[in-house]
Amino acid sequence: MTIACAGIGVGTGVAIGNACMLNRGPVCVAPSWVAATAIETEIERFESAVRTAALQLQGVREQIPPDTPAEISEFIDTHLLMLQDKALSGRPIQMIRAEGTSAEWALQQHRDALVRIFEDIEDSYLRMRRDDLDHVVNRILGILLEQHQSQFEELRHQIVLAEDLTPADIIMMKKYDVAGFATDYGGPMSHTAILARSLGIPAVVGARAASRCLQHGEPLVLDASTGIVLADCDEDVLAHFAARQAADASRTAALRRRGVQPAITKDGELIQLLANIELVEDVETARVNGAQGIGLYRTEFLYMNRDRPPSEEEHFDVYRAVLEGMQGQPVTIRTLDLGADKQPGTATTSAAACNPALGLRAIRLCLKEPELFYPQIRAILRASAFGRTRIMLPMLTNVWEIEQAVRLIRQAMQHLEADGIAYDPQIPIGGMIEVPAAALSARAFATRLDFMSLGTNDLVQYTLAIDRVDDEVNYLYDPVHPAVLRLIHEVIAAGIAADIPVSMCGEMAGDGRFVPLLLGMGLREFSMQPAALLDVHQQIRKLDVNCLTETVHRAMNNLETIDPTSLLEELDRAH
Ligand code: PEP
Ligand code: MG
Repeated sequence: MTIACAGIGVGTGVAIGNACMLNRGPVCVAPSWVAATAIETEIERFESAVRTAALQLQGVREQIPPDTPAEISEFIDTHLLMLQDKALSGRPIQMIRAEGTSAEWALQQHRDALVRIFEDIEDSYLRMRRDDLDHVVNRILGILLEQHQSQFEELRHQIVLAEDLTPADIIMMKKYDVAGFATDYGGPMSHTAILARSLGIPAVVGARAASRCLQHGEPLVLDASTGIVLADCDEDVLAHFAARQAADASRTAALRRRGVQPAITKDGELIQLLANIELVEDVETARVNGAQGIGLYRTEFLYMNRDRPPSEEEHFDVYRAVLEGMQGQPVTIRTLDLGADKQPGTATTSAAACNPALGLRAIRLCLKEPELFYPQIRAILRASAFGRTRIMLPMLTNVWEIEQAVRLIRQAMQHLEADGIAYDPQIPIGGMIEVPAAALSARAFATRLDFMSLGTNDLVQYTLAIDRVDDEVNYLYDPVHPAVLRLIHEVIAAGIAADIPVSMCGEMAGDGRFVPLLLGMGLREFSMQPAALLDVHQQIRKLDVNCLTETVHRAMNNLETIDPTSLLEELDRAH
């Protein structure tokens, strides 16, 4: 057995399966050779890939509209000329014939040799031709590698390896029952990681060379609890991990069998345990794990893996299904939070923004593009006639954003009334507190909202100035940094003062290390990925809120001197 790569584990599960490369970035090839008897076929494969690349480019050229600037067609003509040039294809053919090199490896080596020549050229125009070379070579390599590149339907029960994955990819992986995945980049608080945790897909992110050191088809074991991927496992190791998978499954089943009791602390305080969901399919897991409602429904996933936004009817059908699935328990529908690492369709990055997390995201996008927002609001209101619904606005920064959004919601109510369509006129409208400015304005927000929910994933990101998707700064991601604690405390206090409920739906709420601290701060509503509910429920029954409140109160009065780690240890010992 060898540790093939290590990174940051996402979730606690184990995946056993074969490696399957999902190639998204620049094409990179490992050295490989073919048998002497296969050399002529390999040359034919190479020549056929060059011909296909030329046909693809011809096709692109024919679709260029007539009024497009001439440079665009010239650009494609340059690539077509390169494809016909013997200087590009002659040498790889020689290498295949003389050394038995695979077509991909011969082409890559030739590309590298040409790149070295380009790099020595002083003339900047000629040096730019290097990009053309890369485009052309990558196109041929893409065609050559296509037979090894797995598309989603080939990923079933496999361990996917990729440079990076988008939240839209993870939804497809759930659909195709992927065993697990490892990525070179990405942090544990990215939406890719949150989705994986929530959908129960074991994963390792930020594993650096994962997509390069492992071979396609190689048998692997991925352990999300330790963040490692193992290769060359013998029978005993495989049996050990298979037993762990079985033990995890039977522990969950046993906890579920105990039945779902209200979460009451040792000293009799009732705590609301709610679920975060991304897809309608999550409702079942939320319910069997004892959720007393949905504290966060991330509706932006409805916009992914499709060409156009969903219609009002599509929104309505899904919301109604969630409400009916929750059988009378409250459902908090967050209006779309697209932007940053969650792009609609299959896009991977925001078109122009250099700092998409600080850009046109969530409520900002909705207020700027009401035609995107309005159908969703109407659908939520219509669904509110079918169950206890709450609307939640993401990423608020200013009081006027609440006022504008509420105006739009009231307008939609008037239109529904005019159309004779039922809705809940008392529907609570709440907001997420995810930006430090919002936390510091919580008292003003609390007078305009019916409830607030702490989105600590973003609150930590924005308070500590660390990109939650960047594994390079993951070591700075600290939910108990005194500055973060001060903001959380302030929001809970603002809610108590205004007599409105405050919940927390960031990942911190479902992390057992922080539950005693949050209870001691006065938090009474916790919303988390469904898989965390059973453990947090168990933990809460053993805690004494009175005793925690005293310790936390003392610490919050001395924030300048406290060591958060010692505080967590002290709280852990306090029961
Ligand atoms: C958060 O920011 O804590 C949150 C729950 O929202 P999301 O993770 O979807 O940004
Ligand atoms: Mg957020």
